[in-house]
Amino acid sequence: MTDGGSAGAGRAPAARPGVMEISAYVGGASGAAGAARTVKLSSNECAWGPSPKAVEAFEAASKKLYRYPDGGAADLRAAIARRFGLDASRIVCGAGSDEIISLLCQAYLAPGDEALYSAHGFLMYRISTLAAGGVPVTAPETDLHADVDALLAKVTDRTRIVFLANPNNPTGTYLPAAEVRRLHAGLRPDILLVLDAAYAEFVRRNDYEAGIEMVATSENVVMTRTFSKLYGLAGLRVGWAYCPEGVADVLNRVRGPFNVNLPAQAAAVAALADTGWADKVATETIRLRGLAAERLAALGLTVTPSEGNFLLVHFPVTAGRTAQDADAFLQREGVIVRRMEGYGLPGALRISIGTEEETAACLDAVARFVEGWGG
Ligand SMILES: *Cc1c(COP(=O)(O)O)cnc(C)c1O
Repeated sequence: MTDGGSAGAGRAPAARPGVMEISAYVGGASGAAGAARTVKLSSNECAWGPSPKAVEAFEAASKKLYRYPDGGAADLRAAIARRFGLDASRIVCGAGSDEIISLLCQAYLAPGDEALYSAHGFLMYRISTLAAGGVPVTAPETDLHADVDALLAKVTDRTRIVFLANPNNPTGTYLPAAEVRRLHAGLRPDILLVLDAAYAEFVRRNDYEAGIEMVATSENVVMTRTFSKLYGLAGLRVGWAYCPEGVADVLNRVRGPFNVNLPAQAAAVAALADTGWADKVATETIRLRGLAAERLAALGLTVTPSEGNFLLVHFPVTAGRTAQDADAFLQREGVIVRRMEGYGLPGALRISIGTEEETAACLDAVARFVEGWGG
């Protein structure tokens, strides 16, 4: 027997430290066994789908699939810059904002460096931090809201990134601009503050800002946005970041040269141009969100006030009435919502806002579940 390479003989390749601590992200389920018709309200997708103009652009792009996409996504960055009044050279596009989050972790976290976020913050922060060899650190929330003082108290000399989803998924709560500025003011200038504004278009609050102003006036704030939620292009994977010059330069070095695919770029440009479609989706989502929250409250359930396209609904701990029971009941009725154990909220379900019919079907099913409790 020849001893080929002694050191690793008999051992399988091992991922670097941190990777095996990741619980792989589980997306929202999309089918219920046995149900005739399913209503999928588990992934905060756009119930109305993308603008027909975006679909047209996608189909036109199908003729050019043998071409590489524009690696610099110049048309898309120009369209975003025009729409929001931004400097196109400081926009970086990604395969979903998830990719931007992952790239920021890869680029800014050395092994042992800490990324900080609030207790019920978006799950990708933990996954991307661990994948990069970093250490995820969470700060407690107050009443399911990110708590600026609690976050600042968790900053150490190893902190490199602070993630704030504003509004947050899955809680739906938001921080007013003054609080975000207070958070920023309390961070060392070498700490990157990432404002994840995936749901910015669904906020109707005078004291809210997505982060454009803060990015423009500082060297250490990044804002991320997505085409997956309002624009209904989750399946194509398009997101973007507005960055200080230095951060844009770093992201452009570490991203894949063709990270946003060709049909995705074309569809996103067309989606942005169809402001009528986007406005209609936002208005209708917000109207149905309000009606759904009222109806759930009338059933005696606690609903966290939401600025997103979803509601976090809390169920009793009594056997037969729990979130797990509700989820099983809804599944039998063909309604798919999101369990929250992975977010440390086992007593709650997250329900995305669907079309008027989908939302009504879900609420009718929840009402039947609650009626089944008896007196
Ligand atoms: C959905 C979501 C994203 C990711 O969206 P992409 O599809 O990757 O663009 C980012 N942040 C939060 C808080 C989200 O809920």
